[in-house]
Amino acid sequence: MDPEELEPIPAKTIVSRYSSGSRWFGINYNMNIYRGCCHGCIYCDSRSDCYGVTDFDRVRIKKDALRIIRDDLRRKAKPGVVGTGAMSDPYNPWEEKLLLTRHALELVDAYGFGAAVTTKSPLVLRDKDILREIQGHSPVLCMVTVTTAADSLSQKIEPRAPLSSRRLAAVRELAEAGLFTGVLLNPVLPFLTDRREDLLELVRLVREAGARFLYISLGMTLRGNQRDYYYQRLEESFPGLAERYRRAYGERYWCPVPRSGELWELLSGECRRLGLLFRMEEIIAASRMGYGSQQLSFFPM
Ligand code: SF4
Repeated sequence: MDPEELEPIPAKTIVSRYSSGSRWFGINYNMNIYRGCCHGCIYCDSRSDCYGVTDFDRVRIKKDALRIIRDDLRRKAKPGVVGTGAMSDPYNPWEEKLLLTRHALELVDAYGFGAAVTTKSPLVLRDKDILREIQGHSPVLCMVTVTTAADSLSQKIEPRAPLSSRRLAAVRELAEAGLFTGVLLNPVLPFLTDRREDLLELVRLVREAGARFLYISLGMTLRGNQRDYYYQRLEESFPGLAERYRRAYGERYWCPVPRSGELWELLSGECRRLGLLFRMEEIIAASRMGYGSQQLSFFPM
């Protein structure tokens, strides 16, 4: 992967206030260093036209990103948790040479902020040292998305992302390094990744890997061009399934898996039994535990 291939695009600011108001894992600020994502997840919501990312599967870099991030952090009156990985995986294959995410985390550390990193790539392991430095003064959440334990299925629904087994191995290594680590089981795809036995097996593997938490979202979102894209990819790999979605969900945006209430009881019960956190408030509280009076400065918004 040659970094020269990436088109630089202009940006005025990169670290911005998080629109969900810290309800999402206690994240106060959001930082997308790259634009677009190359993992090719067929369900990806960030492909929706409403976000305005044309040619979404092509990764671009933000020009002068590190200077902008430094200036953004310096201007923030309050420290907080900086999230990265919402609209683009910060550990794409070019990051290995470019080190932009790594240097951005160094800035997050230097300015006394916390970090919440979401990824599907084991490349995050390279930055364990910086994440541990940050965790020395502020909350850190390492979040690895795993939507199925089956590598063969992950290859079909996340064709250019590292396999699920590699991600679970990364979870283990992050947890062993003492980092507050969890798995995002998000989304759960109706009629595809929602078999109860498979999900129970995944909960078990997540626990075995040493994760502290598992966030479960029993459904997916579908709209406009992103729905069309998903249905086309379904047709290629799972003929007939798109029609089943059309019949079940029509134009709905939030598409829950069948019997989601029942499934939630089953999976949350299993998490409780295994000692995995699964409620958002508990995950946030656990990530902030031990930061004493400084905890107060990680503000709710
Ligand atoms: S890794 Fe995330 S941002 Fe990238 S394609 Fe997959 S779902 Fe979308």
